[in-house]
Amino acid sequence: MTSTTFSLCVYCGSRPGTEPAFAEAARTVGEWIGSRGGQLVYGGGRNGLMGIVAEATLTAGGRVVGIIPKALVEKEWAHQGCTELHVVDTMHERKRLMADRADAFLALPGGIGTFEEFFEVWTWRQLGYHDKPVGLLNVAGYYDGLMTFIRTGVEQQFMNDWQMDLIRVGSDIATLLPDLVQAAGMAPEARIEAI
Ligand code: AMP
Repeated sequence: MTSTTFSLCVYCGSRPGTEPAFAEAARTVGEWIGSRGGQLVYGGGRNGLMGIVAEATLTAGGRVVGIIPKALVEKEWAHQGCTELHVVDTMHERKRLMADRADAFLALPGGIGTFEEFFEVWTWRQLGYHDKPVGLLNVAGYYDGLMTFIRTGVEQQFMNDWQMDLIRVGSDIATLLPDLVQAAGMAPEARIEAI
């Protein structure tokens, strides 16, 4: 931790998706982090929901740590306005550093990169590589199909209930974010109360 109250790693689309609700959620998450003196850790890009959550965090007064592999600096338009921008050699380095710098993880709607990052931190959690909370924000039902499929995995005994219990899934930012941050042992309101 730095002087911020908490550090939340957000995985989300490098595209905006079709529903206005996706961009709205990314903006609200950034505002939530920034207005509580928190820190956003993310993939360092300016495109899509990634750019929106970063911009909203900065505007609301939060810190933004962007971590991007050098091969993606141009493709994903590295966000030069980040409080800290780390250009790393590989995707593995990016994901490791993102995980190290976060107290908790949250996936918003996104594509293949977002899925991979979410499943990776979930599997790392079940293996005990970290004990940080992992959340999934189900905006406008985007992840309904995925959750149905994951429950199929439990029903057909490729997974256990305790593995399902390692993730926190919700559609309400005002409930899910405090839950994640508190589960990480951080107090989202601490700095505000201290002022
Ligand atoms: P997407 O959800 O596909 O728009 O990607 C969101 C972010 O995930 C982007 O910053 C991607 O660079 C990143 N990402 C992380 N791991 C991967 C991967 N294995 N393949 C593709 N993108 C990835």
